Amino acid sequence: MLGRTRVTTASVSGLTLAALLYAGFPADAQQARPSNANTARIERFKTAVVEGIEARRKLSQVMNDTVFSFGELAYEEVETSKYLTDLLEKNGFSVERGIAHMPTAWAARWGSGRPVIAIGSDIDGLPKASQKPGVAYREPLIEGAPGHGEGHNSGQAVNIVAALAVKDLMERENLPGTLVIWPGVAEELLGGKAHLVRAGLFKDVDAALFTHVGDTFETSWGQSAGTGMISVEYTFEGESAHAAARPWRGRNALRAVELMNIGWDFRREQLRPQQRSHYVITNGGDQPNVIPSVASVWYFFRETDFENIKLNYEIGNKISEAAAMMTDTKVTRKVIGAAAPRHFNKPIAEVMQSNIEKIGLPKWSEEEQTFAKAVQRLTAGKEDGLSLTAKKLEAPAAEPESGGSDDIGDVSWAVPTVTLRYPANIPNLPGHNWANAIAMTTPIAHKGIVAGSKVVAMTMVDLLLRPDLIREAKTYFTDVQLKNNTVLPLLADTDEPQIQINRETMERFRPEMRKFYYDATKYDTYLEQLGVKFPTLTKPQ
Ligand SMILES: [Zn+2]
Repeated sequence: MLGRTRVTTASVSGLTLAALLYAGFPADAQQARPSNANTARIERFKTAVVEGIEARRKLSQVMNDTVFSFGELAYEEVETSKYLTDLLEKNGFSVERGIAHMPTAWAARWGSGRPVIAIGSDIDGLPKASQKPGVAYREPLIEGAPGHGEGHNSGQAVNIVAALAVKDLMERENLPGTLVIWPGVAEELLGGKAHLVRAGLFKDVDAALFTHVGDTFETSWGQSAGTGMISVEYTFEGESAHAAARPWRGRNALRAVELMNIGWDFRREQLRPQQRSHYVITNGGDQPNVIPSVASVWYFFRETDFENIKLNYEIGNKISEAAAMMTDTKVTRKVIGAAAPRHFNKPIAEVMQSNIEKIGLPKWSEEEQTFAKAVQRLTAGKEDGLSLTAKKLEAPAAEPESGGSDDIGDVSWAVPTVTLRYPANIPNLPGHNWANAIAMTTPIAHKGIVAGSKVVAMTMVDLLLRPDLIREAKTYFTDVQLKNNTVLPLLADTDEPQIQINRETMERFRPEMRKFYYDATKYDTYLEQLGVKFPTLTKPQ
């Protein structure tokens, strides 16, 4: 993320909020502004949805803690998917399961007519991130098992609670509009959203609100910091032979992998500094006395724009072919994931920002701050505790800073989209790490997701009540975003979701993990079930 200045967030009055909402629009658009009566109605409705969310604090905590306890890897979000879709059905949504050739993906719809608002958040965990929550020391629940080392357990709780509060309002006030709740399947592999887009999930959608765990409140517009990417596995095939008796009879696939990696690492010097690329050898052969006949290496090629993502992917392909040539092996490749660079919608981000500023950061207790600092110390991060202020909405950088990717980028080129980062985790942690799981079922997460729900629900009220906002979002999307950028497809028509990729790992760990599933009928919180007293700052001797 770019370094940004912070502003103090004070709760602003409805009147100030209205001023914030409408500041910065061109004068000729004033005609389209809602009337004073509509503005008052919007404010009243926002108060109602905030109350609806307050009334669902318990549900929000149970959903968050339950999904945390499943800790499922990409494409294996079986329990998560079942639990959330059952809950949505019980609440009146009609659910289509297994969409876009992904068994754990779904679309849950409620309502009718326009606008159609799609609300999404990721649901998958990370390998080896199993961690007991609520304690400021390393202790896996199960050694080597996956877990929510990014906090993707929290986003659906944010969205579903917001949607239920808005649904109550829509029923009571007879408001037209359709809510579509969908999951970011396999986000940690950048393996879901491009397929959802290709399957047409966003075809009739007017606006997409995406939520992601963060350590403060923030949204953005324009091209965000970070990259898009292509993830691809190269497999080399040679011939085995006795590595000591007749090595000259073999053709060594592992040597091809090594040559490809050396080739790529030398080539880095001539690539733009914005690129990020990394690889892991997924198959290096069986045993040393057998010349490896098959070997594979898995690459991520990241860049900040479509052209350079494709360019680096093509360089990678060429190097793989050269390595095959040098070793008399054959190379094939399989695309595992792809993500477009992200570009977010300005009019919706501005409205979301005003809602962020109205809600503000949760009031953290002294215990929560002490705990956050202890976890920061544990991971050698800056010890400044939990965020107190929301980030300011700023114009995007002329040259976006490089960094990670999120396949919400693909959605952002399909429909007007914004991302809300809500304050449910501790700042200054490593990311993609067991430590990022520690806070995710504590009061820190529980407060942060409720605050996030409020902002999502209030922004939904704006979208439902303001056709002018939907129009402006579309104008920005077509006349600014699409006009000024070249969008290139990163997935080929033949690329399919690699749904088998984590099957064996989950089959190995699931029986043990099942013993740690949260039973909300017996325990108030997941921490209570685990016997964790919050905050636990040191490991008992
Ligand atoms: Zn994520």
